[in-house]
Amino acid sequence: MRRLFWRVLRLAAPYRGWMALAVLLGFATVGSSVGLLTTSAYLIARAALRPSIAVLQVAIVGVRFFGIARGVLRYLERLVSHHVTFRLLARLRVWCYTALEPLAPARLTEAHSGDLLSRVVGDIETLENFFGRVIAPPLVALLVAGLAWPLTAALDPRLAIVLTLFMALAGVGVPLLTRGLSRRTGRRLAAARAALTAALVDGVQGVADLSAANQGPRHQSRVAALDCEWSGLQARMARVGGLNDALTGLMVNLATLAALAVAVPLVGAGRLDGVQLAVLVLAVIASFEAVQPLPEAAHSLDASLEAARRLFELTDAVPAVRDPPAPASVPADCGLVIEDLRFRYAPGEPPALDGVSLALPAGKSLAVVGPSGAGKSTLVNLLLRFWAYDEGRIMLGGRELRDLAQADVRRLVGVVSQHTHLFNGTVRDNLLLARPDATEAELARALRQAQILDFVRSLPDGLDTWVGEQGVRLSGGERQRLAVARALLKDAPMLLLDEPTANLDAVTGRELMRTLYGLMAGRTTLLITHHIVGLEHVDEIVVLRAGRVVERGRHAELVRMGGLYRRMFDLQRQVLADV
Ligand code: ADP
Repeated sequence: MRRLFWRVLRLAAPYRGWMALAVLLGFATVGSSVGLLTTSAYLIARAALRPSIAVLQVAIVGVRFFGIARGVLRYLERLVSHHVTFRLLARLRVWCYTALEPLAPARLTEAHSGDLLSRVVGDIETLENFFGRVIAPPLVALLVAGLAWPLTAALDPRLAIVLTLFMALAGVGVPLLTRGLSRRTGRRLAAARAALTAALVDGVQGVADLSAANQGPRHQSRVAALDCEWSGLQARMARVGGLNDALTGLMVNLATLAALAVAVPLVGAGRLDGVQLAVLVLAVIASFEAVQPLPEAAHSLDASLEAARRLFELTDAVPAVRDPPAPASVPADCGLVIEDLRFRYAPGEPPALDGVSLALPAGKSLAVVGPSGAGKSTLVNLLLRFWAYDEGRIMLGGRELRDLAQADVRRLVGVVSQHTHLFNGTVRDNLLLARPDATEAELARALRQAQILDFVRSLPDGLDTWVGEQGVRLSGGERQRLAVARALLKDAPMLLLDEPTANLDAVTGRELMRTLYGLMAGRTTLLITHHIVGLEHVDEIVVLRAGRVVERGRHAELVRMGGLYRRMFDLQRQVLADV
């Protein structure tokens, strides 16, 4: 817990100057409140004695000064603390994203996307309170208490003791009590919010399937149940909040009574005059403004630390792949040689790749085919350095893949995968992702090669047409062709086609493959597929089953062999004939 606190504080460290300024402004604001109430008390009490107006002149100016200063200082304090908060928030978001990126996809596969969203958005937002509600108020309270002690002790040490005691009860005792009462609820509240967000995101993403299966009402009642639990917890927190306010009010009144009990005899003894008594009582009441936010601080501390714990849990995950300390230089060409590659996702699991060897010389094409679960995607995951391998070798352009920086590997390979993610932007935005400085002519060439230029030109705004979130305004085939154009624009030495037709119907898939075969000539291309269509254009085919290479050769030889490849080929020919 303490470690967590210091870790969060370290994240906020770059803003300590601004934080100190906000605390000082907070202190000055409370000081002005005390000044306003005490000068007012003096003015009223003194005026009751009907002195000459000249006697009241200074107090009148004082009231005006403190009245204005309080507002101005509070404004400046809010301004500075929000400045710190938003800076901190921006820093936290960047920090979180920077930590998350190397974890994708290997270490994020277990994370639920709703939960991830709740952490990255909700928990960071909770942490935004860390400075304003957790760090600043206790510091302001300490400064106020530190100043109040000598001032009251000068009148009577018992007054200083009474004031400090009740301030401590209101600022430490009450928060500790209410924190004890709300601690479990606070923790459950964060978990309940995460569960609710996860269910909501799930529902939004799967709305079409839920409606089709008539499961909408069931999902709704599940969300309603989670919402009910969340509101119940919030109500409990509100009750604790109410108790907290009542107890703090009680402490202020008790402190006033105790101060009166000490001070009234002093008036009797002639050590204090009546006007000073009024000033003292109001000073006591006003100084409690400094401790009023402390119960909230205790509560926010728990919420912030819980949010920080969940964030650190995410960011502390060790990336599946790390760059070598001194990465090898980037190879010029991109021939690929894989030797005796073995890989399993977790110890004890069956191997996803079990001694795979293959070679793809530069400028040639190689297809890896096999039924579902054969290990094709695993091969891609290892090639793109999403997962790390220990056994066997992968040589790219004569360099061991492990010795290259991950960014360099990904620069060398242009990928078209089965799930093309198109961002919520224009066609142009999505293409420029591959090469931000591409010229208009280069964009047009890539689109022409992917055979989608005419289509893009026919769109209402051409390249500047909005494609919608995840490219919903485009058909599957169009999305894939844009992905092909994107890969071509990148102009990487190796083209990796990872089941580019997996989500397309047979006819669209066949047309896309025809385009792709046209593009493969002279390009180092690795094609991963379970669709055996047109593979006679490929220089070599490797057939995988259960992580092993079971057949290899050219299309005609494999068909002649009559093995697994032949069976898959016949089956798919049948499907195509039926379309
Ligand atoms: P293919 O792409 O040929 O369908 P995969 O490479 O996806 O096959 O899968 C090969 C094997 O590895 C399968 O047994 C699959 O269950 C397993 N596998 C794939 N991805 C993961 C993962 N992220 N975690 C654990 N096992 C996995």
